[in-house]
Amino acid sequence: MTAPLQPNSTPSRTSTSTLVSSDGVSTRACAMCEVWTKTGQNRTFRGLFSAANLRNAHFDHSQLTVIFAKADAIRECGQCRADFVQAFEIPEVWWTSWSRRSNGYFGSERNVDQKGDLQSYQTWFRFLVKHVDTKSLPASLGHNTAKNYAWYKQNIFTHWVARTRQTFVIIFDPHEAIGSPLKDSMLDSFPETAASHPFEAHTYLLQELVSFQDKAVWSIRDLVRGTETKRSSYRLKASYFRLHEVARHAIHVSETLSVAVSTLGTMMHEHDYFFRDYPPPDVASNTSYTRSRARLSFIRNTLKSLLERSNSNKDRLANEIQLSFNNLTLFNSNTSIKIGHAAQIDSATLKTIAFLTLTFLPATFVSGMFSMSFFGFSPDEDRWAMSKQFWIYWAIAVPVTLTTLLVWHYWDNFFPVKSVDRDDE
Ligand SMILES: [Zn+2]
Repeated sequence: MTAPLQPNSTPSRTSTSTLVSSDGVSTRACAMCEVWTKTGQNRTFRGLFSAANLRNAHFDHSQLTVIFAKADAIRECGQCRADFVQAFEIPEVWWTSWSRRSNGYFGSERNVDQKGDLQSYQTWFRFLVKHVDTKSLPASLGHNTAKNYAWYKQNIFTHWVARTRQTFVIIFDPHEAIGSPLKDSMLDSFPETAASHPFEAHTYLLQELVSFQDKAVWSIRDLVRGTETKRSSYRLKASYFRLHEVARHAIHVSETLSVAVSTLGTMMHEHDYFFRDYPPPDVASNTSYTRSRARLSFIRNTLKSLLERSNSNKDRLANEIQLSFNNLTLFNSNTSIKIGHAAQIDSATLKTIAFLTLTFLPATFVSGMFSMSFFGFSPDEDRWAMSKQFWIYWAIAVPVTLTTLLVWHYWDNFFPVKSVDRDDE
C-alpha cells in the first residue's frame, strides 16, 4: 500500500468494463467501486476504483472512506477477491454462501503484530429490512401477484487502522433507496477529529437502519389499520389472499427486527470487549467511547420497541383474519338454519299430502280393481260374478311391477349422479 492515490480513469460508472493494458492485451476489470472520503470538513467523491487500485490507495489524511462495492462481482473474480482481502483484511468466513444467505449477523476480528500490538480491527454485519409498497398493494389478490415489496440489505464491512485511526466502510450492493442515505449519514456525521475509534461509524449506519425499520413497521401498521377500519364493509367479502399476503410481510418485518435486536446485542458485547482490552488512551477517546456505547444502547432499545409494535401488528392482523373467518362461518351457519326452516315447512306439507294419499290409496285400489271388466254385477240376480280370465291381470301386473322395481334399483348404475365440483363450474 505504497502507491499514491490515483482513482481509476475509467469514465464509465458500470460495474464491469474492459481495459487494454500497456502490452495491448485486453484484461477484464471487474468490480469497479465508487469511493468517497472525508478529510476534516471536506467530503469528496474520489471516483471509480478497481479492486487493485483500492488495494494500493492510501487515502492519506482521510478519517473516513466510504466504498460502494458489488459483493458478487468481487466474490466471483479471484483477483478482485484477493485484492479486497489484502486491502481490508476480509476474513474467509465472510465469503461463504451461508454468510451471503444469512438474515443477519455481526462478526469482528482483530489483527495484531508479533508484539501483540493492535494493527487493525475489522467488523462485518448484515441487516435486512423488508419494505412493502402499501400504495401498489391491490385491494384483493389472486394466486399471481405483482411484486410490491423490496428487501433492503445492509451488508457492511468496516476496516479500522489502529496506527492512523482511519475508518474504511464498505457498503456492499447498496439498494438504490438506502445507499445514498447511508453514505450521506456517514459523511455528514462522522467527527472531523482524528480521534475516531472502530465503532464510531456503526452508530451512524445503525441510525439509518432504525429509520428504514421504522418505515417498514409503520407501513404494515397502515395496512392493518386500513383493514380494521373497513371491517364492517368487508365482512363477507374479505380477500383472504390479501390478508395473508400482508400477514406474510408482517412476519418478515418481525423476523428482521428480532434478528436486528439480537445482532445489536452481539455488537455491544464486542464493543465492550474491545474497550476492555484496549482502553481509550485519552479523554477525547473516552468521550467518544461512552457516547457510542450509549447510542448503541439507545438504538437497540428503539429496535426492541419497534419489534413490539411489529409483533402487535402481526397479532392484530391474525385477529382480523379470525374475525373475518368467524363472520363468514356465522353467515353460512345462519343461511343453513334458514334453509333448514324452509325444508321443514316443505316436509310438513309433503307429509300432509302423503297422509291423504295413503288414506285414499286402499279404497282407490279396491274400487279400481272391482271396476275392472273381470268383475260383473248383475242387479237382477243381485250377485257378483268374476271372469275365469282374472289370472291375466296378475300375469301382467306382477312382471311389470318387478321390472319397475329392477329398473329403479339399477338406475344409478346406468345413469350415475354427477357430483357438483367447484372446478367444473
Ligand atoms: Zn476482477
